[in-house]
Amino acid sequence: ALTKQQILQWLENCNRTFNERRDYLTELDTAIGDGDHGLNMQRGFSKVMDKLPTIKDKDIGTILKNVGMTLLSQVGGASGPLYGTFFIKGAQSAVGKEEISFEELVQVLKDGVAGIVSRGHAELGDKTMCDVWLPVVNQLEQEDGNQPLDALLKSAVEKANISLQATIPLIAKKGRASYLAERSAGHQDPGATSTTYMLEALYNAVK
Ligand code: ADP
Ligand code: MG
Ligand code: MG
Repeated sequence: ALTKQQILQWLENCNRTFNERRDYLTELDTAIGDGDHGLNMQRGFSKVMDKLPTIKDKDIGTILKNVGMTLLSQVGGASGPLYGTFFIKGAQSAVGKEEISFEELVQVLKDGVAGIVSRGHAELGDKTMCDVWLPVVNQLEQEDGNQPLDALLKSAVEKANISLQATIPLIAKKGRASYLAERSAGHQDPGATSTTYMLEALYNAVK
């Protein structure tokens, strides 16, 4: 099972990774967007860190909901509302829980991704964060949950990285990158990259 302590570690890992990779994400977003994705993610999770002391003793659902509300209210652009919705919707099945099973974790991710899709209307292949989220959640749903959690998340990270690479040749159909049409091809999607980092941060919290 995934403990509350590991959920908190996940959030801290996200904060660290977005500090470390802020400039790289900004570089990716400069190529096909407006160059703020690194700053958006770094700022968002630093606000989450500010909020953490007041929520860390609550249940997992309440923690995740507060993370989502923080991202929603503190981060602009497309990614703030989308990641905010991810955590708020994902939180619902974890309300009142101090730990969650693998199956419950998959439910959290599935509900979160459904929230992103209902808000952003992106489909697989549109060159967005959904090009990582959708295949990863699909794979997780098909896993045998009796395997060790770290092994399950390790293969999720592998799937994320393969899916991330697959965004490079795509032509963006949603978000700012879609304004570039064919010229968006040949570049890795910034949001798909930050999603992959969030999954790596989760794996690093359990391994
Ligand atoms: P903005 O484009 O408003 O500056 P960010 O730069 O923070 O916001 O985030 C850009 C990322 O958001 C893109 O790389 C893409 O992955 C994601 N994105 C944009 N629009 C959508 C959408 N409709 N659905 C899913 N993800 C989206
Ligand atoms: Mg941007
Ligand atoms: Mg922007």
